[in-house]
Amino acid sequence: GQESRCILETRGLTKDFKGFTAVKDVNLKVQAGTIHALIGPNGAGKTTFFNLLTKFLKPSAGSIVYDGTDITRRKPAAIAQQGVIRSFQISAVFPHLSARDNVRIALQRKLGISYHFWRPIRVLDQLNQQAVALLEQVGLRNFAETPAVEMPYGRKRALEIATTIALEPRLMLLDEPTQGMGAEDVGAVTDLIGRVVKGRTIIMVEHNLNVVSTLADRITVLNRGEILAEGPYDEVSRNPEVMEAYMGA
Ligand code: ADP
Repeated sequence: GQESRCILETRGLTKDFKGFTAVKDVNLKVQAGTIHALIGPNGAGKTTFFNLLTKFLKPSAGSIVYDGTDITRRKPAAIAQQGVIRSFQISAVFPHLSARDNVRIALQRKLGISYHFWRPIRVLDQLNQQAVALLEQVGLRNFAETPAVEMPYGRKRALEIATTIALEPRLMLLDEPTQGMGAEDVGAVTDLIGRVVKGRTIIMVEHNLNVVSTLADRITVLNRGEILAEGPYDEVSRNPEVMEAYMGA
């Protein structure tokens, strides 16, 4: 059979806010090269869990093991340096720069080239070409010169995904990639993730269950801070406890 490797594991991960437990004893394993969706009703603890993974919040108990190393006590910048990139937060786009410049800056960041430094034209040309190639991949070739702020919402999200990919994440955290989108944009972003991002390791919080069923290899359902169910979509969606949690939300 296919060999699987666990790239991220949380052990007993817990977060208390003044007596209220938002994330409770979560044991999660994510296999390398898979898309793992985190779902659950509002208030289930998904955002808090993401914030724990990126070290935006300190856990009250438990540990996080990334690629065999305990990272529980590492700083957010160190986590990003190790390739854990959260989309729509760390990789926010610069609104007044063109799509191409946004991607180029992400490529420069990856290479450790500060963007306000003078660079030989030749290097800039190469990076610009790479940026345009990446934009082509995500269907934004015609938006290369368009300032991010002037792009339609769905396209902007595609750009955010492109800037995240430019950083070559080893673990990509996607925060509701289709949030606030109409059906057409949902389809486009789902297709984009399936085409361009698949094969990388992704943990995705996503409310749209069509998107989840299309993309996710494995699903963890959180409810009241705890894991309620875990498995492939077909299995999890038939679980009566999961249905009840959603109905009661
Ligand atoms: P989800 O993302 O699944 O909707 P959250 O992680 O945002 O859930 O929230 C989980 C619970 O933790 C909610 O009841 C929320 O009110 C609570 N919570 C989140 N952040 C804080 C905080 N900083 N202080 C107190 N309670 C919080």
